[in-house]
Amino acid sequence: MAKQYETVIGLEVHVELATRTKIFCGCSTAFGGAPNTHICPVCTGMPGSLPVLNRRVVEYAIGVGLATGCEITRLCKFDRKNYFYPDNPQNYQISQLYLPVCQNGRVEIETDTGKKSVGIHEIHMEEDAGKLIHDEWEDISLVDYNRSGVPLIEIVSEPDMRSAQEVIAYLEKLRLFIQYLGASDCKLQEGSMRADVNLSVRRAGEPAFGTRTEMKNLNSFKAIARAIDGERERQIELLEAGASVIQETRRWDDNKEYSYAMRSKEDAQDYRYFPDPDLPPVYISEEWLEEIRSRQPEFRTEKMARYKAEYGIPDYDIDILTGSKRLADLFEAASKICGRPKKVSNWLMGETLRLLREREEEPEDIRFSPEHLAELVMMAERREINGSAAKEIFEAMFDFDVSPGQYAQEKGLQTVNDEGLLRDTVERIITENPRSVEDYHSGKEKALGFLVGQTMKAMKGKADPAAVNRVLRELL
Ligand code: ADP
Ligand code: ZN
Ligand code: MG
Repeated sequence: MAKQYETVIGLEVHVELATRTKIFCGCSTAFGGAPNTHICPVCTGMPGSLPVLNRRVVEYAIGVGLATGCEITRLCKFDRKNYFYPDNPQNYQISQLYLPVCQNGRVEIETDTGKKSVGIHEIHMEEDAGKLIHDEWEDISLVDYNRSGVPLIEIVSEPDMRSAQEVIAYLEKLRLFIQYLGASDCKLQEGSMRADVNLSVRRAGEPAFGTRTEMKNLNSFKAIARAIDGERERQIELLEAGASVIQETRRWDDNKEYSYAMRSKEDAQDYRYFPDPDLPPVYISEEWLEEIRSRQPEFRTEKMARYKAEYGIPDYDIDILTGSKRLADLFEAASKICGRPKKVSNWLMGETLRLLREREEEPEDIRFSPEHLAELVMMAERREINGSAAKEIFEAMFDFDVSPGQYAQEKGLQTVNDEGLLRDTVERIITENPRSVEDYHSGKEKALGFLVGQTMKAMKGKADPAAVNRVLRELL
């Protein structure tokens, strides 16, 4: 039954921009300050205060627009979206309705079902609201305006997606553009990227779209995928029972795997939008646009081609490294210092990704510096540390960005390059293990592994395994 229905999805994605100051005042956008310490008359909506547009916000918005093939609206305007809510001290949000800064773009995605293009209806600039904290114990609500006036762009897609897989592919592509631009870190968990999912279903072959709902509160790709499946099912059940879908905003509860109606969907006219009289229209001159265009970074496709030509590492490595701005940056910087790109890549794709998974973190959370990674690669290359010591040092570096050289010294992890001591130890191990020596001479290679192990143990793991091997073969 479910197969006869097609899912139709359009996304509204909010991204918090990485400017130092807010969109209409000089207050800091830094996250995590004490409540109401990053505020002023403008971002708390005091009468008589006037907004002044932050130039960087326009430049980031245009940067994302250019990356997604949008037309840039050369004369764009800000509008007031009027509504009352305690986290919105002006009683209106400054946004863009009539002339958004970017329009008519597209993002190319690829999934199991092939390549397709997802249309971007528009990208507009707006301000974020404050944060309400409901204290149920004291039975009061508190408000923190630090986030009020933090710049956002909203990227509105066309209803072009047909599955959760396409939605994730679209979001990942978008996120990578924005991260490469340095316009935001796009962390779903922390809310610097928020996706609202508009979804409807229709019988296969039906020309018109069905009635859609909008789902909010989705803070991971997994939650988005589950919410899409859950909502699709709910709508199909309604239609199969002869009922109809109501256009409304729903809140997805990822623990219960169910969405709840929040409020019926409001129309643009409910907000009494009108041009903001305090902000002049923004004219984007040819020179300014050219300047922004010339500053566009190297995006993934170009980076992949360059890595192939410049570093000679496998396509598999290139695919993973360029899939994250952070990994790509670390790779380039560390390779430049130590000149061993494949070794650097191995650390990033192996231990780094393993520990990130274990700690449930993302590449953007990485703390170690490229200098320290390069130092570790060089220490291993010079055989100052063996493989297991390198892993131990790496883990400390991953967690606390320790200097590998200093850490190895403090913990006594350097390889002992004392040939005399090594020979004495090997001789002792040989006399203590006559059975293994016999086995080795009768052709059992495995016995050698055992003797290497015993020697390493006797030297408290600080010997170079290659040297142990060599000396053992020699003395046997
Ligand atoms: P509104 O003006 O009510 O916000 P929009 O036309 O701007 O509505 O659309 C908001 C989002 O909903 C867009 O991302 C769009 O792609 C998506 N959308 C619109 N109609 C449908 C539909 N029938 N099914 C799924 N998504 C839809
Ligand atoms: Zn302010
Ligand atoms: Mg809309």
